Amino acid sequence: ASGHTLLRDPRLNKGLAFTEKERESHYLTGLLPPMIASQELQEKKVLHMLRQYEVPLQRYIAMIDLQERNERLFYKLLVDHVEELLPVVYTPTVGEACQKFGSIFHRPQGLYISLKDKGKVLEVLKNWPERNIQVIVVTDGERILGLGDLGCQGMGIPVGKLSLYTALGGVRPSACLPITIDVGTNNEKLLNDEFYIGLKQNRARGQEYDELLEEFMTAVKRIYGEKILVQFEDFANHNAFTLLNKYRTTHLVFNDDIQGTASVVLGGLLSALKLLGGTLSDHTFLFLGAGEAGTGIAELIALQISKKTDIALEEARKKIWLVDSKGLVVSARKESLQHFKQPWAHEREPINNLLDAIKEIKPSVLIGTSGVGGQFTQEVVETMSSINEKPLIMALSNPTSQAECTAEEAYTWSKGRAIFASGSPFSPVTYGDNVFVPGQANNAYIFPGFGLGLIMCGATRVHDDLLLAASEGLAAQVEEEDFAKGRLYPPYSCIRKISANIAATVADKAYELGLASLLPRPTDLVQFAESCMYDPTYPNYR
Ligand code: NAP
Ligand code: MN
Repeated sequence: ASGHTLLRDPRLNKGLAFTEKERESHYLTGLLPPMIASQELQEKKVLHMLRQYEVPLQRYIAMIDLQERNERLFYKLLVDHVEELLPVVYTPTVGEACQKFGSIFHRPQGLYISLKDKGKVLEVLKNWPERNIQVIVVTDGERILGLGDLGCQGMGIPVGKLSLYTALGGVRPSACLPITIDVGTNNEKLLNDEFYIGLKQNRARGQEYDELLEEFMTAVKRIYGEKILVQFEDFANHNAFTLLNKYRTTHLVFNDDIQGTASVVLGGLLSALKLLGGTLSDHTFLFLGAGEAGTGIAELIALQISKKTDIALEEARKKIWLVDSKGLVVSARKESLQHFKQPWAHEREPINNLLDAIKEIKPSVLIGTSGVGGQFTQEVVETMSSINEKPLIMALSNPTSQAECTAEEAYTWSKGRAIFASGSPFSPVTYGDNVFVPGQANNAYIFPGFGLGLIMCGATRVHDDLLLAASEGLAAQVEEEDFAKGRLYPPYSCIRKISANIAATVADKAYELGLASLLPRPTDLVQFAESCMYDPTYPNYR
C-alpha cells in the first residue's frame, strides 16, 4: 500500500508510530514529522488530551474520532483503561451522544435499514464492505438505555456495544456489524428537529414492522450463514420478548437487556452465596420492576434453582415475587397482565406498594429494576434489615440518578449489614471501621465473553444453560479479596481474563449440549479463547 493509504485507513494507520524502516519502505517519508512514537506514548498523549476535556460528550467525540483515525490505538487505549473509558464510549455518555447524534454525526459507523428498504434488505446488507461478519448488534431505537425512543439516533448503542465486544471480548473489529432498523419514531422532539437523521414518521407497528424484521432476519442468515450472532439491543419490551421468542429456535440470537442482564445478576447472586452460605433455593426474591430486566433475571434464577435441586421450575418461580407500576403481580390481575408477567402471577391478595409487599413476603433479596430512582427508601432498607441479618440489595436502575438507592444509603440504613450491588458505579463507602466497595452489575462483564464463547465454538443456537454457565463462570472469577470488601463482582482491570474464562465455560456447555459446530473440541478452552482474541498492539509492516 502507498504511504498515503496507510495513513488514511484506520485499520492500518499507526500515525507517529511508523518506524524508520516502515516509513522508508512504504513511501511515508515526509508525510509524517520526524518524531517516532511508541504506541504507549501515543496512548499517554490521547489520555492526557481526554482528561483535559470537561464535557463528557467531548471525550466521546474524541474517542470516536480516534476510532475512525487509528483503530488499534483506540482499542489499545480502551483495553488498558477500561474502568476510565467504559463510561466514555458506553453508558452514561453514549446516551447523550444518541440524543445529539444528528449534530455530532460524522461518519455512518454502521448500517441503516429503514422501512424504505423493504424488499431490498439483502442488497442493503451487501453494501457493507466487510464479508466475514460474526456479530451483529441491532436496535430499532425505541428504548435507548433509560432515555426512551431515540429513533434512528439509537445507532450509538450498537456502535458502542460492538466496541466493547472487541475491547473486552476480543472479537475482531472487522467481524462486528452495528445495525439500526428505522421504522420511524414517536419522539415528537426528534420529528420536529431539522437535524434528525431518521425517517420522519411515526413508528410502524404490527404486520408492517414484523415483515421488515422477518426480511432482515432471513437476509442476515442468507448472507452470513447459520453461525452469525444477532444481538437485539434496546428494543421496547413489547417487541423484545416477541422477537427473542420468535427467533431463538431458528437463529443464533441473544437479547442483552433480557438475557445478558439476567446472567450478570445471577452471577452476582451466586457470588453473594459464597458470602452468605446456603443455596439459591434458601432465598426469597422480591423485584421492583417487572420488565425486560426484572422478568429476565427472575426466570434465570428460577431455572438455576430447578437445575440445582429437585424443585420443579413452577415451584422455583414461587420463591420469586415481582412488583410493577400497579403493585404486586398476582393472579387476581391475570387478565390484564402482559404475557411475560403471567408466570409470576402467584396466588395472593393484591398489595399496591413496595413496603407492604416486603412486610408480607419477607424477602431476603431485594432487586430494583424499575427505572425509577429513590424507591428503596430508608424505611424499605430498614425493613429489609429487620427481616434479614444480611439483606441482599441490588439497585440496578440506570443511570445513577435512577438508582433505587445509593451505595451509601444501603450501607448506612442497614448499619453496614447490607450486601449491595448496583447497575451504575458508586464510589467506595466508609461505614464504621469498614470500607465497602460496591460491585457494579454491568452487562459488560457477560456479553463480550458470552459472544466470544458462542463464536469460537461455532454455536448455532443459544440455550438458557449457556447463560447459566456464563453466570457461574463470572462468579468463579470473584476472589477472596473482593469478598472482603463486599464486592460481588471482580474488578474490570482483568476483564479480558474474565471474558476468556466466561467464553470457555460457555463453549464447554455448548459442546456438552451438542450446539457447537467447531470440531474437534479444543482441549484447553481458556487457552483457545485467549488465542482467538484480537490484539490491538501494532503489527510491523514489511
Ligand atoms: P422495562 O422493560 O421498561 O421495565 C420497567 C418495569 O418497571 C416495568 O415492569 C414497570 O411497570 C416497572 N415500573 C415503572 N415504574 C415503576 C414504579 N414507580 N414502581 C414499580 N414499578 C415500576 O425496563 P427494563 O429494560 O427492565 O429496565 C429497567 C431498569 O433496569 C432500567 O433503569 C435499566 O437501566 C436497568 N437495567 C440495569 C441493568 C444492569 O444493572 N446490568 C441491566 C438492564 C437494565 P409496568 O410493567 O407496570 O409498566
Ligand atoms: Mn441495552
